[in-house]
Amino acid sequence: MVTKAPKPGRVGIIGSGPAGMAAAMSLLQSGHQPTVLERYPATEPRGNILNLWPPPIEALDLLGVDIDDIGAPCQTIFRNHKGRTRATIHISDELQKKYGGDFIGLLRPDLYKRMYDSLPTGIVEPNLAVESFTQNRDGVRVQLSDGSTREFDVLIGADGINSVVRRTLWGEEPIREHNLHIFGGYTMKEFPAAKRGEVVISWSRDKQGSYTSIRSNGKDGFEWWVIEAHPANTDFTEDYHATATRIAAEFPFPLPELVAATDPTHMHRWVLRDRIPLKKWSKGRATIIGDASHPTSPYAGYGAGMAIEDGYFLGRALAGVDLTNLAEVEAALAKFEAPRIAHTANLAERAYKLSQVMHHAPKIARPFRDLMMDHTPFLQKVAADGTPGEIMKQVDIIVETEKEFQAKMRTIASDGRTS
Ligand SMILES: Cc1cc2nc3c(=O)[nH]c(=O)nc-3n(C[C@H](O)[C@H](O)[C@H](O)COP(=O)(O)OP(=O)(O)OC[C@H]3O[C@@H](n4cnc5c(N)ncnc54)[C@H](O)[C@@H]3O)c2cc1C
Repeated sequence: MVTKAPKPGRVGIIGSGPAGMAAAMSLLQSGHQPTVLERYPATEPRGNILNLWPPPIEALDLLGVDIDDIGAPCQTIFRNHKGRTRATIHISDELQKKYGGDFIGLLRPDLYKRMYDSLPTGIVEPNLAVESFTQNRDGVRVQLSDGSTREFDVLIGADGINSVVRRTLWGEEPIREHNLHIFGGYTMKEFPAAKRGEVVISWSRDKQGSYTSIRSNGKDGFEWWVIEAHPANTDFTEDYHATATRIAAEFPFPLPELVAATDPTHMHRWVLRDRIPLKKWSKGRATIIGDASHPTSPYAGYGAGMAIEDGYFLGRALAGVDLTNLAEVEAALAKFEAPRIAHTANLAERAYKLSQVMHHAPKIARPFRDLMMDHTPFLQKVAADGTPGEIMKQVDIIVETEKEFQAKMRTIASDGRTS
C-alpha cells in the first residue's frame, strides 16, 4: 500500500501545559504545523511538586525532550502514620533497569523548561486567550481575546480543567469536589539522615503525609505534600505553612522536618477536584486532551503523566492524515481517543475513590479500614499492584505505537511529499 504524504495540516492547540506542549512536539514530528495559544505571558506552572511514572518519561524521550537526570528515581512505599509498611510498588526488572525506579521525583518548573526548550521558537504564542470557536466541514475558526481570529484544520483543547473547548463540544458539566485540600512544597536543604530514592505515602486516620526525593539541576532535594478534608464551599484563611506543619506533626521523621525546612514561598495549596469522565472527547475537527478531557486528582500522581501521553498519542494518530479531509480527521481522532478514554477514566476514577475511602470514610469505620490496610493485602493489590500495573502497560503501547509511526514516516519520506 502506498501512503501518500498529505500537506502539513494547521493545528491550533489551546494551552501550553504538559498536554499542549507534548501535542505540539508530536505533531511537528508527524509533519504538521502546530500553533499553541497560551493565555498567560509565559509557559510556566503554578506550583512545584511533581512525580512522573516511566510511560510519560518514555514519551518525553521520543518527543525529543532532554530526560537526562530529569529527576530522582524512587521506589514507592505505602505506610501508616507510625511508619509501618503497608505495600510496596514493584515494576519489571527491565523498567527498573531503564528508569532506576517506579516514580521519578522532580520539580514542575524543570519539566516545563525542558519541554518548552524542545519546541522551536514561535510555536507557543503567549498572551492569547481563546474565548470561543466554531467549526464546519472545512475548518475551525477561533476567537481570541485580542479581538482577532485564527483558522485551523484541527483544534486541540489542552486548556485544563475549565476547558473552553470541552464546554463548547460537550456542554457545561459540574466540577466534582473531593472536599479535600493539599499543601505541597520542596526544600533543597540536606537531610543526611533521610533515606533517598523513596516516595513514602503515609496515612493517619484522616490525613495523608507524603514525601519523595527529587533532583533539580543536578542537585538532590525533597518534595512533600499533606492532605486533609476541607469543605470545598468554605474559604480557607489560615496560614499555609502553619497548617502543613500541623498536619505533618502526625507523621514520623522526616516529614515534619522537611516541612519546617521549607521556605513558605516554595509551597502551595490546592483544592482537589475533577469531573466525571466523558465517554467521548472529539467532535468533528476538535478534540480535548489532558486535564481538559480527564481532570485527575493529585491522588493519582498521574494527571501530568497522562497529559503528556495524550499529546504523544494524538500527534502519532494524525501522522499521514490529510487534515483538510473531515472524514480522515474524524477517523483518526476516534482511533486516538478510544484507548485513551478507557485508560484515563479508569485511573481518574480509582484516584477519586481512594481519596474518598482514605479521608471521608465514616469515623466509626476508620479503625476497621486501617486494620485492613495494615494486615491484609488489600492496599498491595489495589494501589501498589493494580494501579501502577495499569500505568506501566502504557510503556509497551508507546513502544508499539512508535514502531508503527516510524514505519509510516519512512514510507511517507520515500514516497515524497506532495505540495
Ligand atoms: C497539587 C498537585 C499535585 C500534582 N501532582 C502530580 C504528579 O505528581 N504527577 C502528575 O503526573 N500529575 C500531577 N498533578 C496533575 C497535573 O498537574 C495536571 O494533571 C496537569 O498539569 C494537566 O496538564 P494539562 O496540560 O492538561 O493542563 P494545565 O496544566 O492545566 O494547562 C492548561 C494550560 O492551558 C492554558 N489555558 C487555559 N484556558 C485557556 C484559554 N482559554 N486560552 C488560552 N490558554 C488557556 C492555561 O493557562 C495552561 O497553561 C498534580 C496536580 C496538583 C494540583
